[in-house]
Order: sequence, then structure tokens, then C-alpha cells
Amino acid sequence: MEEIDSSTTWWRIDARDRIVATDDAFKRFAVENGTPDLAADLVGQSLWEHLAGIEVRHLYELLLESLRAGGRAVTYDYRCDSPTLRRYLQLTAQARPNGDVDFRSTTLEIEPRDVQPLLDAHRSAAPGLIRMCSWCKRLATPSRWIEVERAVAELGLFEADPLPGITHAVCPDCERRFMDAIGGSSR
Ligand SMILES: [Zn+2]
Repeated sequence: MEEIDSSTTWWRIDARDRIVATDDAFKRFAVENGTPDLAADLVGQSLWEHLAGIEVRHLYELLLESLRAGGRAVTYDYRCDSPTLRRYLQLTAQARPNGDVDFRSTTLEIEPRDVQPLLDAHRSAAPGLIRMCSWCKRLATPSRWIEVERAVAELGLFEADPLPGITHAVCPDCERRFMDAIGGSSR
């Protein structure tokens, strides 16, 4: 029996942005990440059901438009953190002639971290929202975007119970990186 390489996962959307295929590694990743329901029913769902935040959705629109217009494959680094891990990943997206787009995500590095309850997707949240960059997973403070550990200290969240909710955004650094990757301009 062939060993599945869980450091790379793969999924495909069709020309109408429906997820039409994925590999077993993706399902396992979803289970490890605390979202087993995502693994079970992913095929047939719209990509857009899984993209949170207006800014992220806008950048994905630009990405898909560029790829389907004949643009070259796009590769960019991103993070997919959990309460106990920093995961550094790289995503490559490439269109096929029929309008399908293949996504391949490779894990570059995984670092354990002290538990960050703020990143627990299942916790109950207090009113009020903290903005998190969907790509680098840094949090917005009044002056800058910083790693969760430092943001918790800077925003005085050690004592907060329940913790505030998280809303997904894109930080200026990642927006610039992303626009460079797809070879466009955000302005
Ligand atoms: Zn970012």
C-alpha cells in the first residue's frame, strides 16, 4: 500500500468554482485541524463557502480571473495555524484549459507553540472582534500587525474570558505579496 504524503494536499475547482476533487491528505488535514465536517462534504461545495472576509474573497476573485485568463501558475506562502502549532505552507494555483483550477498546498515547516486559546475555532466568543490576516495569521493591533503571542500581550487578552471573536482580513504586507504573485496591482 502506498504511503500518502500528508505534507502535500491537493484540491480542484471547476469553472463555476465548485470543489470537484480532493485527495485523502486534504481530508486528514481537515480532521487534524478540528474541521472533520469539512473533509466529509467538501466535494460539491462552492469554494466561496470556505473563504471568510471580503478582502480575502476579493483577492481570490483576482487570482482566479488572472489564472483563467491564461496567467501562469501562482505560488504564495501562507499560514494555517492551530492553537498549538504554527504551520508554514505554500500554495500553488494553476488553471487548466477547461477553466478548472488546481490548488496544491505543501507544508514547509511546523513549529509547536504554547497553547493559544484565541485560535480555538470552537470556543465561545465575547462581543467585539479582532482582525486576523487570513494568510500570515497575524493580528491587528491599533498600530501594527503582529504574531498572536505578542498581540495577546499587547491587547491585554490574558485575562479576557471569554476572548473576543476573530474576523478574517488581509494585512497590507500579504496583500502586496499576493498582488505581486499574481502579477497585478491592487490599485
Ligand atoms: Zn498577513
